[in-house]
Amino acid sequence: MEFKTIIEPFRIKSVEPIRVSTAAERTGYLKDAFFNPFLLRSDKVLIDFLTDSGTSAMSSRQWAAMMDADESYAGARSWERFDAAVHSLTGMPHVLPTHQGRAAERILYGYLGGAGKYFLSNTHFDTTRANIEFSGASAIDLPCAEATDYASDHPFKGNIDTAALETQIKKLGAKNVAAVILTITNNSGGGQPVSMANAKKTSEICHKHGVMLVLDCCRIAENSWFVKHKEPGMEHLSYREIAQAMFGLADAAVMSAKKDALVNMGGFLAVRDKKLSDACTNLLIITEGFVTYGGLSGRDMEALAVGLEEVFEPDYLQYRIKSTAYLGERIREMGVPVIYPIGGHAVYVEAHVLYPHIPVDQYPGQALVCELYRLGGIRCVEVGSVMFGKYDEDGKLIPAAKELVRLAIPRRVYTQSHIDYVIEVFEKVLDHKEQTRGLKIIWEPPFLRHFTAHFAQNGG
Ligand SMILES: *Cc1c(COP(=O)(O)O)cnc(C)c1O
Repeated sequence: MEFKTIIEPFRIKSVEPIRVSTAAERTGYLKDAFFNPFLLRSDKVLIDFLTDSGTSAMSSRQWAAMMDADESYAGARSWERFDAAVHSLTGMPHVLPTHQGRAAERILYGYLGGAGKYFLSNTHFDTTRANIEFSGASAIDLPCAEATDYASDHPFKGNIDTAALETQIKKLGAKNVAAVILTITNNSGGGQPVSMANAKKTSEICHKHGVMLVLDCCRIAENSWFVKHKEPGMEHLSYREIAQAMFGLADAAVMSAKKDALVNMGGFLAVRDKKLSDACTNLLIITEGFVTYGGLSGRDMEALAVGLEEVFEPDYLQYRIKSTAYLGERIREMGVPVIYPIGGHAVYVEAHVLYPHIPVDQYPGQALVCELYRLGGIRCVEVGSVMFGKYDEDGKLIPAAKELVRLAIPRRVYTQSHIDYVIEVFEKVLDHKEQTRGLKIIWEPPFLRHFTAHFAQNGG
């Protein structure tokens, strides 16, 4: 029997109150925050869709494991448990615990990178690119052609363009390619999944040319759901077996455990090669901590070990993917333009299509972000010209390719009625569409301006 209603496959044991504010109050809060929701206090937010990173709710099993943790400096029981959990999932013999994903990236890409080296990826996540470029190396994105066709329903728009990959490796010279990185799911590309066939082909190309393949596996469980249900021939495998098969194609993996390991802080680097592991271990000890805890406390390692099991439970994954899709499909039916198909962890709205009357240099994405907060207390993030825009010599904006708004959904945090409320807020957004005005930047820092920039409303 199939039901339309997606129930949360958990009961709630501990609750965190949300204070319900009025639209009038929020208008004031928004002004005080210079129309930048990053500057809002979180207790002024009703539904926080800023990020799915580090915002998961932990289970009673995770909390119980934390209580039972071993905080010994060396050889802790919690380390053994964490090491075993990562090893059995990834199949990689060497596991290095880090405080979050970017620390694993800094260690691995700092070691492999340097001037004259290249990294090739389906899409480098921003901290990935930053760590690569900081080492002196270059990062080249090679997304598949379907990635930018937002209207088609191609199921694996997170794929890398394998033909372009091979051409680039030949052009750059295999010895200059430090690694190929498959970001799974493809976060910056709309949370779109990567197919097993694409990962296999990528692995074949890498190994034919002697180039290392790294999985950026933050959302590997969500990706496995798509592979099982959308890729022919994969349905007989369990979600966990699909993930294990993908790891089996790679030489190393970096993970931000703040995503699919269902914890609030943590990460790891896992590698096959002993020599590479030894080199990275030196960097781990210098910058993170001793080998049996790195950047983590014993209780973090316990929670992570349990989270890596729970995230592959079929009831959880079904709920996770279906509830994200529920939000995306509903607002799409109402006429809100979204990236399609809906990815695993977020819904992306095309703000320039929603607000054709707001020019890009008045930031339609930021206008939608502000409307969602003002009308409904929803906080989300612009992924467009506020985040990626640059200026030319005359101070004219060079806009980003797309003006998107990301609604990232924390794991196990919000219920169906929260999501139904968000859908209702979108009805109000559509009602106010014509009156919605653009914004101008009145102050900005020299880099990563979206976090702290100040805005003012145009004509107000
Ligand atoms: C979040 C993320 C990272 C960085 O991890 P942090 O834990 O935030 O340091 C790297 N890659 C991808 C794809 C991510 O989503």
